[in-house]
Amino acid sequence: MPAQTHRIEEADVLVIGGGTAGFGAAIAAARQGLDVTLLEATSKIGGVMAFCPGMPWGGGYPVDQIIGGLLEELTSRLETMTPPAAEKRPCTLENFGPEIIYDHDIATLTMFEMLEEAGVAVRLNASAIAPKMAGSVIEEVSCFDRNGPFVVRPRIVIDCSGDGDISAKAGVPFHLGDASGNMMAVTISFHMIGVDWDAAFADPDPYFTRYAAKGVAEGRLHPDLSQLYLMRAFYEGSVFCNSVHLRGVDGTDPVAVGKATQEGRRRCHQLAQFLQAEVPGFEKAHMSMLSPTVGVRETRKLQGVIRVTGADLAQGTKFPDGIVACDNPIDDVMRGDESMTHDAAIESGSFYTLPFRALLPEKITNLMFAGRIISADATAFASVRGMPQCMTMGQATGTAAALALKDGCAVQDVDTQRLVRSMTQQGVNRLGVPS
Ligand SMILES: Cc1cc2nc3c(=O)[nH]c(=O)nc-3n(C[C@H](O)[C@H](O)[C@H](O)COP(=O)(O)OP(=O)(O)OC[C@H]3O[C@@H](n4cnc5c(N)ncnc54)[C@H](O)[C@@H]3O)c2cc1C
Repeated sequence: MPAQTHRIEEADVLVIGGGTAGFGAAIAAARQGLDVTLLEATSKIGGVMAFCPGMPWGGGYPVDQIIGGLLEELTSRLETMTPPAAEKRPCTLENFGPEIIYDHDIATLTMFEMLEEAGVAVRLNASAIAPKMAGSVIEEVSCFDRNGPFVVRPRIVIDCSGDGDISAKAGVPFHLGDASGNMMAVTISFHMIGVDWDAAFADPDPYFTRYAAKGVAEGRLHPDLSQLYLMRAFYEGSVFCNSVHLRGVDGTDPVAVGKATQEGRRRCHQLAQFLQAEVPGFEKAHMSMLSPTVGVRETRKLQGVIRVTGADLAQGTKFPDGIVACDNPIDDVMRGDESMTHDAAIESGSFYTLPFRALLPEKITNLMFAGRIISADATAFASVRGMPQCMTMGQATGTAAALALKDGCAVQDVDTQRLVRSMTQQGVNRLGVPS
């Protein structure tokens, strides 16, 4: 057999990870005329959105105005379909603004179509493995698909992988979770189909606390299920369950993720049986759309040129290089031994922005990162991590890639005023510092 030769591919921009951040980054860069390759390790676009099918886009309306940009374009494409495939609705939880709920399959199909229309080379089932450095530049990234290893030689890399493996291997400093290394719980979701909504939601308690307490006391539900967060899903009669949390799982450890997924599925099955037996409206319902893997909220926090902090949230900081607005509460989920919080991050009627510099490493001149690996402290992270924000962070890095390549400069030297202007021209709202 002849020795296997490495396949070598060139790209202006390599986007690693096809979650909401990668979607935003790849489309924005491709629409600026760049040759973009998007690598996604799994068989689907969406990342956490695909791992927890049907999870609403939260935090898309800071102070009740849509973030705009790609989020608005995608939402409006879905809303104007016949029949509509998305709608805006109030969130049932305290301190959260409106959310967007959608048909999961149509939404992921539409996202893929938008990537195709933009001319992005989407490579599913393909993983980035390691960067090769030439000083402070990533020269190439070794990758793997079912045909074996291949190499991509990009001019710019945008790490949207959620976990930041490539950034970490390239030498970007990071820490896991909060100051003690505690990461938020991972969660596995499912739907109940065939629910009588009127009976099920007769009690306004969004956590079904009374029933949960009975299930835990009788040993039929895991003690971490003392709050059952059940919500009306997109279609009448279906209910989305986002309650099965598993603590202390390191999302960068594939063995731990696999074990948590199996344990989570067991707990979902127990919960589905309990709902059928105990909760009015669920008598004829059945479980469906069980997550293919747990959704991981938090792993690495990369160190950027600037770190967004809890103080920025409290003060409602509007950064001069702000690229997306946010007013999400501090949505902390079972970090270590702690419980869940949804404390308001900011006083009502205000918002803060996320700075582009939190998406830039200090030293590597052709690397950006976007999404849940943004440089943020644990408090800020618990607020910034919504899918609309991740998508728009991605959009900013894709746009910045074009500016850096046009000006022949390091990503750290991108003219941020031009970037903010371009984002505003792309329909992103509430940017700029009020005078
Ligand atoms: C259980 C749960 C509930 C949540 N609830 C909500 C909610 O209700 N509303 C809301 O707006 N947000 C919610 N969030 C937060 C939000 O979903 C995430 O913060 C957001 O989706 C992260 O997007 P991302 O693109 O940064 O990363 P991810 O979605 O994690 O995507 C990263 C992608 O990169 C791929 N990847 C990783 N490594 C590689 C590699 N080396 N090569 C190629 N591909 C790679 C992964 O397969 C994945 O598809 C929730 C999160 C979780 C986990």
